Amino acid sequence: MPKIPVKVVTFEEIVEWSRTLAERIRESGWQPDVIVAIARGGYIPARLLCDWLGVSDLVSIQVVHWPTAAQMAEKAYVKYPVSVDLSGKKVLVVDDIVDTGDSVELAKKSVEECCKPAEVRTATLQVITPVAKYIPNYYAIEVKEWIWFAYPWNAVEDAVGFVMKIVKETGKTTWCLDELIHAHIEWYGREYIEKRFGYILYAVDLMGKRGLIKLDKCTS
Ligand code: AMP
Repeated sequence: MPKIPVKVVTFEEIVEWSRTLAERIRESGWQPDVIVAIARGGYIPARLLCDWLGVSDLVSIQVVHWPTAAQMAEKAYVKYPVSVDLSGKKVLVVDDIVDTGDSVELAKKSVEECCKPAEVRTATLQVITPVAKYIPNYYAIEVKEWIWFAYPWNAVEDAVGFVMKIVKETGKTTWCLDELIHAHIEWYGREYIEKRFGYILYAVDLMGKRGLIKLDKCTS
């Protein structure tokens, strides 16, 4: 088992899950007037839901909770609130995943307080039910064991965060490629390195230019 279990998610899966989510919303008989995307993870799911549900009004709110891959900040906070009048509107707040649930719960409260909506419901592609303190009104996939989902829209950020974590935890800044590959397998599993190898090289190059890591020749 890797130290941090990671599942690499493809854009095809995102389209499929957002379609399932849209079907659940439609089956409930409820149609939103406006979608609020939670930046940044909710952007692509929210845009896809607009398409599946025929919603043309899309605004956003930014909530910060997990600033680096697989590392949670202490408290979720609203960095940029919604600043439009949503009087009388049915609003759907959308994010990629409910982990603790703090981000979605906070975004919902913030929209209710700021913008006079008629009703606010919430939807996410995934919910990690054993850890979630808040369950959204709609979701497509229930996750029964905690995993870091490496979504396709933050592949570089994940790669940088994951390399940084290895550097910090080991205190070692000079690596040969073979060692770095083995460390990735130990920390994040084989699937991650196989599917994201190009991104890891890109991250190492970026970090090398910032003087955070040095890639050396392997001696044996
Ligand atoms: P939370 O407030 O804990 O529900 O999570 C807030 C946000 O952090 C989510 O909308 C994701 O963008 C990101 N996030 C949290 N946990 C995960 C995870 N297990 N996999 C991928 N992204 C996550």
